Amino acid sequence: MTLELQGLGVSRGIAIGRAHILFHNQPDVREYLIPAFAIEQEVERLLDAIEQARQQLKSIRNHIPANAPADVTSFIDTHLLMLSDSSLTKVPVEMIRERRCNAEWALQLQRDALINVFNEMDDPYLRTRRDDVDHVVNRIHRILSDQEVAEHEIPDGRLKGHIIIAEDLTPADTVLMQHQGIAAFVTEHGGATSHTTILARSLGIPAIIGVESVRRYVQDNELLIVDGETGTLIAGADALTITAFESRRLAFEQHISSLSRYKSQPTKTRDGKAITLLANAELPEDITTISNAGAQGIGLYRTEFLYMNRLSPPEEEEQLAAYRDVVEGMNNQPVTIRTFDLGADKTVDGGRPLSQAVVTNPALGLRAIRLCLSQPGMFRTQLRAILRASAFGKIKIMFPMISTMNELVQARNLLEQCKLELDNEGIAYDRSIEVGAMIEIPASAVCAEMFARHVDFLSIGTNDLIQYTLAIDRIDDHVNYLYDPLHPAVLRLIQMTLNAGKKHSIPVSMCGEMAGDPRYTRLLLAMGLEHFSMHPNALLEVKQVINETDLSLLPANTLEVLDIADAVETDLLIEQINEAVHNN
Ligand code: PEP
Ligand code: MG
Repeated sequence: MTLELQGLGVSRGIAIGRAHILFHNQPDVREYLIPAFAIEQEVERLLDAIEQARQQLKSIRNHIPANAPADVTSFIDTHLLMLSDSSLTKVPVEMIRERRCNAEWALQLQRDALINVFNEMDDPYLRTRRDDVDHVVNRIHRILSDQEVAEHEIPDGRLKGHIIIAEDLTPADTVLMQHQGIAAFVTEHGGATSHTTILARSLGIPAIIGVESVRRYVQDNELLIVDGETGTLIAGADALTITAFESRRLAFEQHISSLSRYKSQPTKTRDGKAITLLANAELPEDITTISNAGAQGIGLYRTEFLYMNRLSPPEEEEQLAAYRDVVEGMNNQPVTIRTFDLGADKTVDGGRPLSQAVVTNPALGLRAIRLCLSQPGMFRTQLRAILRASAFGKIKIMFPMISTMNELVQARNLLEQCKLELDNEGIAYDRSIEVGAMIEIPASAVCAEMFARHVDFLSIGTNDLIQYTLAIDRIDDHVNYLYDPLHPAVLRLIQMTLNAGKKHSIPVSMCGEMAGDPRYTRLLLAMGLEHFSMHPNALLEVKQVINETDLSLLPANTLEVLDIADAVETDLLIEQINEAVHNN
């Protein structure tokens, strides 16, 4: 009998292979009392386990292939950093001594405390860090309970060609399993912006997340089909279905390998319209991947990562060095640096929360530019660092989540003050540095014209724009099904922003995930988008669609998508638009 299960496709590609079900869950942790004379021994047991976890991760890190994307190494490094952080090394030790409890229990209590803090964070990237806490703590727990090596870490080639079915996966698991040649993975949990899914996309592993109770429905070693684009998992498929998916798999592989020829080609439509393709960067190490993908610059440099895994925010010199590295690495290509988009409760100042208030709806709270303006000292440090780095290459400044003119004026005033300070100190910077605003809030899209008069460029952050327009939490599994870039309200807001840019002759780019999804490229071109910024791995595919598009041959009713209320009708029209790419 054929069984079809639906989840969220987060990394494209088709895989056909046998199931390998991972059952290792969080260990069952119980508290027990440690006699006074054995307390120090228990502390040693915990510290030993942490050290072993560190050695395991270092060994994983050493096995990462040289050509793997920078993301891969940085995820492992994040876990290594956590293993050195006092929140995991010192606090549980104190608990063992104070409560006279076992190491597992102390670790579990600290895990729960950390997860609570992360759960309240507003920024989705920071919130996904709770997964990292879990992954690191689970590793130590496994060692403490003598399950030292997780089942899938045994490098015996047993997993080659298998489809991994798991409750959840760590980034480290994902790297290891990719070495062992897994064909795909399917998990019960996870968000579209979690590290594991970002990694799956980077590594090109087809993946589906959020398939509820999948381990109950699928049997070990059963033949499965994974469609990482549609999020469909098929078990017990008949021969005809398998053959159909096999040819789709081959076609997809051929398609990916054919993309390399676009690397050196200029990005322009068949009828000659030049398009700018930029990359999104999160870490200085991303520069290599970005250069390899042939990006024309960085359209979004997310600076939040500089503030993570530490108790105090980075000083001006440290930030200057990071920004300078990026801009020099990009060889005079433009780099758009976004000021910090941190969440309301992120502790960055010596462990002191930035806000003491209880936040009921953090996504609607003190985040992004609101937070920047409420912490002028921290904001000015960043502005000064960005300005100083602008002396070493082409830098633009971008403010996140602008919703009122007052915010824009205040941010610009602070920038002007920083320029004056640098002038007085005789420090060089680019005097004509461009300043832009992100359009991520429906109100700002509606009023984009107002903002367009006061900035050099606009950039549409569709991840948040969709979240706020459709009133859905972008990282909540339960409302994933409502996250729709093609909702007419979203498309109309994008159109308004593009029109505003045109009217005031300023460029408008798009840097949300939507810009890197080739399914939407032609529609966005038709709407007038000329500047796309995306994850570097998406660049060549989007470039191919652009270079194979003749704008004059787009279906006459393309823009009717903005008026269609029915999602099925919308999908049909998008299919027609995209099919024309291959038929032209
Ligand atoms: C967005 O919201 O689309 C965006 C690019 O910003 P982030 O994903 O960092 O919130
Ligand atoms: Mg955003």
